[in-house]
Amino acid sequence: MQNIIDGFLKFQREAFPQRSELFKQLASTQSPGTLFVTCSDSRVVPELLTQQEPGDLFVIRNAGNIVPSYGPEPGGVSATVEYAVAVLGVSDIVICGHSDCGAMTAISTCKCLDHLPAVANWLRHAESAKVINAARQHASPADHLDALVRDNVIAQLANLKTHPSVALALEQGRLNLHGWVYDIESGAIAALDGNSQRFVSLAEYPQTCALASHASTAA
Ligand SMILES: [Zn+2]
Repeated sequence: MQNIIDGFLKFQREAFPQRSELFKQLASTQSPGTLFVTCSDSRVVPELLTQQEPGDLFVIRNAGNIVPSYGPEPGGVSATVEYAVAVLGVSDIVICGHSDCGAMTAISTCKCLDHLPAVANWLRHAESAKVINAARQHASPADHLDALVRDNVIAQLANLKTHPSVALALEQGRLNLHGWVYDIESGAIAALDGNSQRFVSLAEYPQTCALASHASTAA
C-alpha cells in the first residue's frame, strides 16, 4: 500500500500542478464525450491506452466488461449507462474487452465456479457469447479464448442496445457504438466493423465503428 500513498504524494507534487487549470475547470462540471466500458483487469488502463485526460472518459469497469441487458431491476451498470447517455449526452460508447481475460477464461475452460457464486452469477450476462462461441470450432484453447473475448464484446453491444436511453439516442442519431479488443502484449486494438461484423486493426482502419448513428463523430 505504501507505493499507492507514495504515488499520491507524487501526484500532488508533480501531476496535479501541471493540470491545475484543467482541474479548476473540472471542479464543478464534466462533459466527457465517451463512455468507456472495460474489464477491471489491472493491465487495462483506459486513460493510458487512449491518451485521455481527466474529464474525457466516463468509465465503467467490471469483471468481463459486461453490460447486463436492461431489465425490471436495473443495477449499477444500467444506472451508469443511463446517466452517461441521458444526462451527460456522450456521443460514443466503447465496449473494450482484452486478451488473457480471466472472466472469459473461466467461461471458455468451463471452470467450476461453485466456490465463486457471485462471479458465476455475473457471467450469466455473457451467456449468449458463451453459447455462440461453444458452437464454433477452435484450433486451440488460445484461439477459443480470443474468439470468446470478441464474441463477448459483440454480446455486450447487443445488451447495451436494450437500454432505453441507448435505444433512444441511436434512434435520434446522436450515439455511436464501438467494440474493441485490446491486446496486452502488443498494445494493439482490434475493432468491430459493423458492416462486416469482423474485427479489424484500429491502427489500420481508424474509422472503424460497430454502429454509427451519429455522423459527426465518424471523423
Ligand atoms: Zn478481463
